[in-house]
Amino acid sequence: MVKRDSSVRIGLVFPDLLGTYGDRGNALVLVERCTRRGVPAELVEVRGGSAIPDSLDVYLFGGGEDDAQVMASDGMRRSRASIQRAHDNGAVVFAVCAGFQLLGETYEASDGSVLDGLGTIEMDTRSGAPRLIGEVVVAPDEATGLPTLTGFENHGGRTTLGKSARPLGSVIVGHGNGVGDVDGAVADRIVGTYLHGPALPRNPALADYLLEPVIGAAVRVPLDDGLPMALRAQRLGDAMLTGVAARVRDWKVNRG
Ligand code: GLN
Repeated sequence: MVKRDSSVRIGLVFPDLLGTYGDRGNALVLVERCTRRGVPAELVEVRGGSAIPDSLDVYLFGGGEDDAQVMASDGMRRSRASIQRAHDNGAVVFAVCAGFQLLGETYEASDGSVLDGLGTIEMDTRSGAPRLIGEVVVAPDEATGLPTLTGFENHGGRTTLGKSARPLGSVIVGHGNGVGDVDGAVADRIVGTYLHGPALPRNPALADYLLEPVIGAAVRVPLDDGLPMALRAQRLGDAMLTGVAARVRDWKVNRG
C-alpha cells in the first residue's frame, strides 16, 4: 500500500454548482471502496465560492447547467495553481461533463459566451443542438485496462480533442464527446468523461482505476460488487438494445 499518514481525502468540488447529475454518488463510492478495504477515507466538500485546497487526494468535478458552470469556471480558474500543485504531487482528477469541459481550453455556451477552462487538456467545447441525452456505452482505451463503461449523458456540448489529448475510449452506444465517436479524455491521473448518472456506482473498475495511484496495492483487496455488477448488466443490456434501435433508425433516415 502507498504509505500514508492521513486518511484519503476525496474532494467533492463545488457540489452546490457541479452536482446536478448525482455526482455526490461518485465521491461516496470512492470513500466506501477505501474504508471497506480498511483504508481510512473522508469526504471533503469544497463549496462554491471557496478556494480549492491543494491538500486533496482526489478532485471530483461534476456536471452542471450553463449558469452554474460560469460560476464554477471562475472558481476553478482562481484555484488553478492549487489544483496543478496537487496533481503534480500525485493527486487524481475525475471530471464529468461540465467539469470535464472546464478541464479544456474553452467552453462556448449556447448564448455564444466563451468561458476559459483550466487548459489541463488540449480540447475545446462548443454548445450544439440537439442536446445529447441517453444511455452511453464506451469501450475504453486498451492501455487503461478498463472493462466496458456504462453511463448516462445529458449535454449540449461537443468536445473536440486536440493533438495531445487521448480519448478515454470509443463510443459504442450514445454520443460521448459528440465529435469523432469518442468519449472523454485520459491522461496521467486524469480522467474526463461525459458518463454521468453517476458513473462510479455503475463502473467499480473505474473507481478502482482512480484510487490505485492513491492507495496502491490496497486497491486489489476484493470487495463484494454483486449489486453494482447486477446494475451494470441491466444498464448495458438496455443500452445495447436502444443503441441498436438508434443505429437502425439512423440507417433508415440516411438511406432516404
Ligand atoms: N452545460 C453543459 C452542456 O450542456 C454541461 C452539461 C452537463 O454537465 N451535463 O454541455
